[in-house]
Amino acid sequence: MSRNAESTAFRSALEVIRAVEPRVADAIGAELTDQRESLKLIASENYASPATLLAMGNWFSDKYAEGTVGRRFYAGCQNVDTVEALAAEHARELFGAAHAYVQPHSGIDANLVAFWAVLADRVESPALKKAQVRQVNDLTEADWFALRRELGNQRMLGMSLDAGGHLTHGFRPNISGKMFDQRSYGTDPTTGLIDYDRVAEAAREFKPLILVGGYSAYPRKVNFRILREIADSVGATFMVDMAHFAGLVAGKVFTGDFDPVPHAHIVTTTTHKSLRGPRGGMVLCQPELADQVDRGCPMVLGGPLPHVMAAKAVALAEARRPDFADYAQRIVDNAQALAEGLLSRGATLVTGGTDNHLVLIDVSGYGLTGRQAEQALLDSGIVTNRNSVPQDPNGAWYTSGIRIGTPALTTRGLGTAEMDQTAELIHTVLTQTTAGANADGTPSKAKYTLDPGLADKVAGQATDLLATYPLYPGVDLS
Ligand code: PLP
Repeated sequence: MSRNAESTAFRSALEVIRAVEPRVADAIGAELTDQRESLKLIASENYASPATLLAMGNWFSDKYAEGTVGRRFYAGCQNVDTVEALAAEHARELFGAAHAYVQPHSGIDANLVAFWAVLADRVESPALKKAQVRQVNDLTEADWFALRRELGNQRMLGMSLDAGGHLTHGFRPNISGKMFDQRSYGTDPTTGLIDYDRVAEAAREFKPLILVGGYSAYPRKVNFRILREIADSVGATFMVDMAHFAGLVAGKVFTGDFDPVPHAHIVTTTTHKSLRGPRGGMVLCQPELADQVDRGCPMVLGGPLPHVMAAKAVALAEARRPDFADYAQRIVDNAQALAEGLLSRGATLVTGGTDNHLVLIDVSGYGLTGRQAEQALLDSGIVTNRNSVPQDPNGAWYTSGIRIGTPALTTRGLGTAEMDQTAELIHTVLTQTTAGANADGTPSKAKYTLDPGLADKVAGQATDLLATYPLYPGVDLS
């Protein structure tokens, strides 16, 4: 697409919006300015292409399309069928998956679809068979009561939160923790790495229905072949949530034992992180789970978002192009350069480095909590997020870590030299920030001091670093 076409498209859209509610048009414009000006190191964010963004802003949003391709509960869904089928086809081809379900509205929804597909397959279907009925409505009240108890009495084994697991993998504040009896596997306290023998031991003791692999803050590769063997040894279904690293799987950086798709029974993902698509989710699975997965709507999802499925089809088509593999490799090269830059300046990193798109800095070495470090970096134009480190003494709110990731800056075009400069900026801010005290003199986990002049200087240097790599260079809203 020519630069002119992109500018015209977005300018026209804003003009139409401005005529109705100018404050929304202004906020959309301001968001572009903010994103252009900030050094975005949020590991879970990216910049979707103009084509992906534009595919979402249209009348597909007006359609109800409950059901699946060719089997809808509403008439007039032929065009929704086209984009849903295209998105699923691109997903299957890209990941080498037997089946793809592209309706989940987000990562949490994709996980819920997967959990209930497994529960339906392994708990509900055998109960229906035993009662010799075809569907739940045909069960007696007593059998239905027994099935509901059975569905609510299943076990899940997943990675612990402070080792990098995700809230949706069976933790109590999330619905998954209220559905399942959950146990976690952590990481080795010395190396910070997954200890597969300990996972096998936990699986043998706990006998989960579902073994979950995948993470949101673990900076290393995971051997999915070994996890599948562990799942098989205890009769568990093996599920992988690749929300964070789907782009690295799509770009063939993670292959063989490190590609979850051939090893897992079911794989979930978001589409908006390293995969660089629209905000949404997706489920890939082996053929035996396909029918249950396709019941995601109405099982746990409302009507699908056809405009987002259209955007998924566009983004997945982009990810099938050869240059996406190059992008994926550059994400990892950049993360490793950032890690090296930080290590060489004296930072402590969880596991001592990275194999993927993210780096976890243990900021206790700087005498700071994650909360203090996150705010001080933000004051200096560097956007990150605080994150627990393994066995974190500061809990999940204040934390002792900062998680940084490279998918977004890599999309902008920054390379390894700029990552070293970024490491210098981060190190400068963290060494110049001091933890504050509460009114009673006790150490505060939130207050800190950073010379505003220094913060401004670093913010200026961050802007200079970005100047060579304009964001959405084809979009001129002026
Ligand atoms: N799974 C993992 C591993 C994640 O990191 C996240 C989001 O951070 C999710 C699921 C949830 O995704 P969403 O915010 O789209 O619901």
